[in-house]
Amino acid sequence: MIPQLSKFLGPSNLRKCSPEAYRKLREILCKFEQGAILGNDIQLTDKEIKANETIMCLKMEEYNRGVKDPNQFAPGYHIFERLHEIEKSPLFQLIRKMPKGGALKTHDTSMCSTKFLIGLTYRSHLWACTVDDGCKILEFRFSKEMPTKMRHENGKWEKMDELRDRRGEVNMKKQLLQHFSMYPLSELQTNDKAWDHMMSIFSLLHGLLTYYPVWGEYYYNALKEFSEDGVQYVETRTLLNPLYCLGGNKLPVKETLQVYNEELRRFKADHPDFIDSKIIYSPLRHTTPENMGGHVKTCTELNKEFPKLLVGFDLVGQENEEYPLKMFVNELLKMPSHIKFYFHAGQTNLYGSPLDENIIDALLLGTRRIGHGYALTKHPLIMQLVKRFSIAIEVCPICNQVLQLGADYRNHPAATLIANDIPFVLSSGNPSFWRTKPLSHDFYMAFLGIAPRNADLKFLKRTAKNSMRHSALTDEEKATAMQKWKSKWDEWIDYTIENADDIMKQPEK
Ligand SMILES: [Zn+2]
Repeated sequence: MIPQLSKFLGPSNLRKCSPEAYRKLREILCKFEQGAILGNDIQLTDKEIKANETIMCLKMEEYNRGVKDPNQFAPGYHIFERLHEIEKSPLFQLIRKMPKGGALKTHDTSMCSTKFLIGLTYRSHLWACTVDDGCKILEFRFSKEMPTKMRHENGKWEKMDELRDRRGEVNMKKQLLQHFSMYPLSELQTNDKAWDHMMSIFSLLHGLLTYYPVWGEYYYNALKEFSEDGVQYVETRTLLNPLYCLGGNKLPVKETLQVYNEELRRFKADHPDFIDSKIIYSPLRHTTPENMGGHVKTCTELNKEFPKLLVGFDLVGQENEEYPLKMFVNELLKMPSHIKFYFHAGQTNLYGSPLDENIIDALLLGTRRIGHGYALTKHPLIMQLVKRFSIAIEVCPICNQVLQLGADYRNHPAATLIANDIPFVLSSGNPSFWRTKPLSHDFYMAFLGIAPRNADLKFLKRTAKNSMRHSALTDEEKATAMQKWKSKWDEWIDYTIENADDIMKQPEK
C-alpha cells in the first residue's frame, strides 16, 4: 500500500502542498485507512442498512455522552464497577439479542453463571472443607461418608447443609457469591495476584463439578446459557479431569468425553438452532517435556475414539519464563496433523520475554488460532504472518482487564488488530468468574470501547462470521453453521427494524 500512496504523496516536501492538494491527499489517506479496517469487506443489504441506522444511533448516543462526561462511558472503567449499569444500556440489550456465531475460547469449568453454581451446592451428599469456622470454603466433595482426604492442612470437613444451617442461608449465599467469582477488585492488584485468585476458584470448583452426575449437567447448562446469549457454537478447552463417583472411585478419562458427547447430543436434540460444540484438549503447560509427550499420546488416542468431538490441542495456565512453548517443540511436532493446535500465547504485557515470544512458537507450530495474543502488536512481522496464514486471534477483552493487563478498553491492543484487519474473533475466557453474560459484555466493550467510533454493523457481522470461518468445524459443517447463523441473523435484523422505536427508548434515570 505504501508504494501506491507514495505515488500520490510524491517525493517532495509535503509543506509545499496547496490547500486544495492537501484536502485531496487527506481524503485519500482516510480512504486507505478506512478500507483496511476489519469488517470493511462486508456489503450490507438494504435491510441491514436500515437496522444499522438504529444500531449507530444507540452507539453514538452512548459514545457522545461518554465524550462529554467520561464518568458515563463504561469502557473507561473496570467491568466490576459497571456490570449492572451496562445491563441498562439499550445498545447492550440489542447486542444481547444479536446472533454472535461461536464462542471459540471458553474453559469448561468457568462457563456457567454463579447462580447455577450456587444451586449445585444444595445437592445431597455434598461436603465442604472449611477454615475460619466455616467462613472460608476451600474444597467441595460429594460423598456418603465424611471424606478422608483434604488438599489443605487445618481444614475441617462439614456437611454442606449443616454448614448452611449453622451460618444462615443468606450469609452462605453471599459467601458463595464471593467464593465463585473474582470480586472485589481490590484483591486483584497485579497480574500474578489476579491469576492466583482465578486458580483458587478453579481449585474450589474441582470437587463440585467433577462429580459424575454434576459434570454433564454443568456442560448442558453452559450450552444453554451460551445459546440464550446468542451463541450457537462453542469450543471448549478442557483439562479432561477424571470424574468421580459417590463411593470415591475415579472413572477413566474416556468417560469425561463420553459425558460431553451424550450431553451435546441431548442439547442439540432439544435446541435444533444450535450448531455444535467441539473440545480442545488443554493440559497445564507447567510440566516436563516427558509429560508433554504423554499428553500428545493421550490426545491422539482420544481423538481416534471421539474424532468429531475432540479435535484440537492447547496448553493452559499462566504463561511464565520457566515453561515457554519452545521447550516442548520436539513433543508437539509429533502430534498428527489433523489434530489442530489452538495455542494460548502472548497473554502478557511484557515485551521481549519468553511469554510474548510464545507467539512466535505458536505460529511456527502451525497454530490455527492464538488464544489472547495480547502481545501480538509488539511483533509486527508475526502480525503480518498471522494475517498471511489466516490465523485468528481470540480476543477476550474482559478477561484481559480482570487479569490486570490493561485498565481502559480504549487502550486495548486489539484496536491495532482491527485497524490492520487481522483475523479476529471475540470470546470471553471465564465469564463465570466475572459474572458477565457468556459473550455479550465482551462484544459490547469491543464495539463501543475498542473498535473505532464509526465501526458499525459491518464490524459486528464480520466478527460473528469470523467465529465460524476460524472454528474447528469442517468445511461441510461450516456451510451448515453459516446457514443456521444466517437465519437467526436475518430474524435479528427484522426485529431491529420492526422495533426501532422501542429499542431506542433510553431507560429512565
Ligand atoms: Zn484461557
